[in-house]
Amino acid sequence: AKFVYDFTEGNKDLKDLLGGKGANLAEMTNLGLPVPPGFIITTEACKVYLDSGSEPAALRAEVSEHLEALEQKMGKKLGQADDPLLVSVRSGAKFSMPGMMDTVLNIGLSDASVSGLAAQAGDERFAWDSYRRLIQMFGKTVLGVDGELFEEALEEAKQAKGVRVDIDLDAKDLQGLVAHFKDIVAKQTGRDFPQEPREQMDLAVRAVFDSWNTDRAKLYRRQERIPGDLGTAVNVCSMVFGNLGPDSGTGVAFTRDPASGQQGVYGDYLQNAQGEDVVAGIRNTVPLADLEQIDKASYDELMQIMETLETHYRDLCDIEFTIERGKLWMLQTRVGKRTAGAAFRIATQLVDQGLIDEAEALQRVNGAQLAQLMFPRFDLGAKSEMIGRGIAASPGAAVGKAVFDSYTAVKWSRSGEKVILIRRETNPDDLNGMIAAEGILTSRGGKTSHAAVVARGMGKTCVCGAEELEVDTKARRMTTNGTVIEEGDVVSIDGSTGKVYAGEVPVVPSPVVEYFEGRMHAGADDADELVKAVHRIMAYADRVRRLRVRANADNAEDAARARRFGAQGIGLCRTEHMFLGERREMVERLILADTETDRDAALSELLPLQKADFIELFESMDGLPVTVRLLDPPLHEFLPDITELSVRVALAEARKDANENDLRLLQAVHKLHESNPMLGLRGVRLGLVIPGLFAMQVRAIAEAAAERKNAKGDPRAEVMIPLVGTVQELEIVREEAEQVIAEVEKAHGVDLKLTLGTMIELPRAALTAGQIAESADFFSFGTNDLTQTVWGFSRDDVEASFFTAYLEKGIFGVSPFETIDKDGVGSLVRNAAAAGRATRPDLKLGVCGEHGGDPESVHFFHEAGLDYVSCSPFRIPVARLEAGRAAA
Ligand code: PEP
Ligand code: MG
Repeated sequence: AKFVYDFTEGNKDLKDLLGGKGANLAEMTNLGLPVPPGFIITTEACKVYLDSGSEPAALRAEVSEHLEALEQKMGKKLGQADDPLLVSVRSGAKFSMPGMMDTVLNIGLSDASVSGLAAQAGDERFAWDSYRRLIQMFGKTVLGVDGELFEEALEEAKQAKGVRVDIDLDAKDLQGLVAHFKDIVAKQTGRDFPQEPREQMDLAVRAVFDSWNTDRAKLYRRQERIPGDLGTAVNVCSMVFGNLGPDSGTGVAFTRDPASGQQGVYGDYLQNAQGEDVVAGIRNTVPLADLEQIDKASYDELMQIMETLETHYRDLCDIEFTIERGKLWMLQTRVGKRTAGAAFRIATQLVDQGLIDEAEALQRVNGAQLAQLMFPRFDLGAKSEMIGRGIAASPGAAVGKAVFDSYTAVKWSRSGEKVILIRRETNPDDLNGMIAAEGILTSRGGKTSHAAVVARGMGKTCVCGAEELEVDTKARRMTTNGTVIEEGDVVSIDGSTGKVYAGEVPVVPSPVVEYFEGRMHAGADDADELVKAVHRIMAYADRVRRLRVRANADNAEDAARARRFGAQGIGLCRTEHMFLGERREMVERLILADTETDRDAALSELLPLQKADFIELFESMDGLPVTVRLLDPPLHEFLPDITELSVRVALAEARKDANENDLRLLQAVHKLHESNPMLGLRGVRLGLVIPGLFAMQVRAIAEAAAERKNAKGDPRAEVMIPLVGTVQELEIVREEAEQVIAEVEKAHGVDLKLTLGTMIELPRAALTAGQIAESADFFSFGTNDLTQTVWGFSRDDVEASFFTAYLEKGIFGVSPFETIDKDGVGSLVRNAAAAGRATRPDLKLGVCGEHGGDPESVHFFHEAGLDYVSCSPFRIPVARLEAGRAAA
């Protein structure tokens, strides 16, 4: 294998082998752009080193060959005493891992060459400062010396001289500092700082290889789901200097605004500085536009290059550049990160410029970005007082009174207050408080902290790890930069930016939601640019997608919104949701009825209510399919709480006035009490043991449909049986249902064309899908329960208990309740779909678990050949977009 590539030998499509940085340096070189010459050591070499503990045998000779070529091109040798070639040695993996791996600059400087550099540059101070930087960087990253020691020595030197900033140290001071740094290296490592340039280079390369496996790099990869075996490439690049005086400098630039997508001049420039100075924020940068005044020739050249890059990459690029004594050099470029809004706008702008087609435009945006654009946001025009900033852990704009414990959060929210739960960090005990709060704010923890994970799971706004905030839960207050927030003071948190404000910041609805709601028209002249872009992209997606998108909706209001958002029917109406609130007791009466008369009474009470619900639903989805699922309550949700009831009865008994009804109820609740309600008397099981229940529901559906038909409507009801594990269950229910439907059809003189299908949400159902299809007109995969039962994860508990640990350990990068587990649960889905269709080729297939609105899962369902996904109304645009992206 070839382990070393000259910049002239690579190209941008070789990121696997050359890393992102190297591949793009090669691409720019071949475009004829001014890139300092250099070469790339491949990720393959790194992999060999990581696997075997030593560099591949051929590497040394290959590096020598490329180094010689480089020296020839530059007309000087690495570390040559009178005119040293200096190089940078930089990491660069396939995926960007900012700041995670090592870089060493100024390789080639030594006691022998420092004066040569001084003479060539005509700048004594510059040479000693470069040498000082080399020993510091090399000592720390290559030799593992504690960086603090160098910092302290630098601080001492400044104090001794009575100055505050580095630039006030002169050549003599820096020369002294170099001696001091060399002492530190010798003392700490037991060896002298290596004077031999090639040895410096080889050690630096090895250090970059090693930095692939530091703890922080490993953690970062797990969190970002970057495979651990890719390895990093190493870029060896001849040094150019931005710190050689006022005609030198360094900067960053974007080919268009990464926040809005607008074309223009965006970036920052710092005169007489090196890249690290910009990052370190030592001096203030000036806007890139000012470069035109400072160095017009370089500015014009840079503008030209940016246009070349954008046309070539057909996308927004970001750039790092250096100007050395009036000569412009490109140090890096890549397709740049951008905000969600800019992604949509740029994609349509590039279509208009003819740079990309519609299919490509769909790949330039994603559902997560669209979801982000749908959250309400703070009115940026309003006055606001920012008091801190943390990690944007879960998007949204939340306003409420500060509370510092979950108990208060629950208590206050019950009395109608909006609260923000503020904690140092959260733990499973905070769950109730998190549910009660508008938003969650913590001063510790990162993107996978408990607060972040749980908040994202609940779709709740969260800012975590806002370290400036001092949270004192005992005193019920937090302080930050002098501002004190007491319990009850209003705070506002922005989960999309991580910003924290004192007081109430006004919230404005998202223009994108206004558009989906039909309150804003993309065609209007004054329509928001973002709305226009979203409108166009959605049209592309709808044109190409194969998957249909339905909604999970239980009432006419949700159904109507879903329809406005583009739903093509209802994929799941959970009828148990129609029995919450006041109607709960009716279900309780039904469950507890022990005589036929009681039961019939309970059922006939429910029938007209159900029917009225369905009529509304069919009306709002007229002409589109509506899948009504028969009752599937975990029983305990419909019965009084066993503990509360026991206490009540015990107290009554103590007072000797226990009432007959409560005693009966307690007895029944005891009898029906389950330790595992999720695996208990639910779904079809309930329908089979409570005579008349499913028949009542089917009758309500059929009569509602008949009435709609007679009113010239177009109802398209589908009856769905939950939690089926075997075809026998389905056969019994089907027989009974068909009888009821026939009766209703006869009575109303209509042909209802009702279909009857089942959920596939238990492993056994998936495994016997071929048999089940004999009795089902359609399948709808219930991936919530399927995930629960395939993994053996209690869906109500695990996300708040051990998932944080699992995410931190990288066992999975995202909860399998959020994104479908393709290998496990997904394989059951694929096989069941195939087996079902083998039995019944026209079997309709859908999914109605939460995964139906998850971007990555939608791609999976597209590939698995399902006919539709069903998700909550707000996720519908996301599902439409991702279905389009999957098909494009
Ligand atoms: C499922 O299990 O995926 C499903 C949609 O049903 P529920 O969430 O109501 O159990
Ligand atoms: Mg289910």
